[in-house]
Amino acid sequence: MEKIVSLCKRRGFIFQGSEIYGGLAGTWDYGPLGVMLRDNILREWWKMFVTDREDMYGINASILMNEKVWEASGHTGAGFSDPITECTKCHHRFRADHLSDATTCPDCGGALGEVRNFNLMFETKVGAEGTIKSYLRPETAQGIFVNFKNVVDTMSPKIPFGIAQVGKAFRNEIAPRDFLFRVREFEQMEIEYFVKEGEWEQQFEAWREYIWKWFDRLGLSRENIREFEVPENDLAHYSKRTTDFEYNYPGKGFDELSGFAYRTDHDLKSHQEASGASLEYIEPDGTRFIPHVLEPSFGLGRAITAVFSEAYTEDEMSGDVRTYLKLPVHLAPYRVAVSPLLKNKPELVERAREVFLMLKKEFGNIAWDDNGNIGKRYRRQDEIGTPYCVVIDFDTLGETPALLDTVTIRDRDTGEQTRVAISELVAALR
Ligand code: ATP
Repeated sequence: MEKIVSLCKRRGFIFQGSEIYGGLAGTWDYGPLGVMLRDNILREWWKMFVTDREDMYGINASILMNEKVWEASGHTGAGFSDPITECTKCHHRFRADHLSDATTCPDCGGALGEVRNFNLMFETKVGAEGTIKSYLRPETAQGIFVNFKNVVDTMSPKIPFGIAQVGKAFRNEIAPRDFLFRVREFEQMEIEYFVKEGEWEQQFEAWREYIWKWFDRLGLSRENIREFEVPENDLAHYSKRTTDFEYNYPGKGFDELSGFAYRTDHDLKSHQEASGASLEYIEPDGTRFIPHVLEPSFGLGRAITAVFSEAYTEDEMSGDVRTYLKLPVHLAPYRVAVSPLLKNKPELVERAREVFLMLKKEFGNIAWDDNGNIGKRYRRQDEIGTPYCVVIDFDTLGETPALLDTVTIRDRDTGEQTRVAISELVAALR
């Protein structure tokens, strides 16, 4: 994991939040390459879970919501608290349920104090008088439930149907740790899928299958993922079944990547009672009922941590150890890097620029790389996961007449090079 964190910083994927001021625990910033990777994952997710389907609708709700939302959902109460304990000697704080010995401080050996409940929501005040209390939302899901009626009234969806949302969530975690795994500000990709009560089991199975396909799309190997069936006595009081999908993170082992819960009609019912608005669904024949809901919930940071863990590879090439990211082509920040063999030969640079612009027009995310020598460029592109490097050399310009107007394509994973005519380059890369 340390190697991944260091690569992320060195190559411009992810930086510590507020780094020049010594940081702020539990926050990370995406750099230029991180933003590209992040956007690729979000786009793939939206495509698979919303646009590729006929039963899904997207929304984008506000982060700040009426405080009554969080009372109705149960977040202001004990349900959204973690047990906290503080060392009486060094005053470090820990999550009591994450300690093997809840009496002794793991940092200094001092005695741990009493365990108390700590609510994870960040509280804030709205308006100049500061009298209106609000929270930074701790999950995106509630924004979906409070817009249920709006979506039903405007889109007339046929049940079963789902509402999806991607956005920021905030939790004042007691002990942020493991890079993007447990942070205080993160992005969720959540779905509430509304069904008739009698159909939940059948839909649960269909969604489980679909979620596995998402992990395939992220390039995660199935042996690194397992389903953890949350035992009945650990289920949230409203859930009849919850399956966590766990990933085998390096140096950490299996831990939650995503959650998938059957939440009955608990949320809509609570919001109907608390708000007084009818949150019933009305069938064409006039039957009215509160739908039950299945909730596949994904954390973007945990997905990115898993993607890096899976892609990070060390091997030996030309007698050297090299590091590369074996990212799937559709997730890599750059699809192709284009280089002139030497940067001080204007005729090479000019031809390379033409090829670069042609590919950029076609694919968009193409890198121009003329830094250092060609070996260094390959190493750099390998480290950021660029699947292909295209090089314009003297043969491109006709030094070997039979090779005029051809370029080399180097494959990231094997290091093998093939020569392709520029006129066929787009098709070859595609
Ligand atoms: P955990 O038990 O690990 O704290 P959770 O069960 O509270 O997680 P959920 O409330 O089910 O998590 O949130 C859904 C998803 O949001 C999680 O599967 C995870 O991917 C992501 N997530 C939750 N909390 C965090 C966090 N502090 N940092 C990063 N991602 C998070």
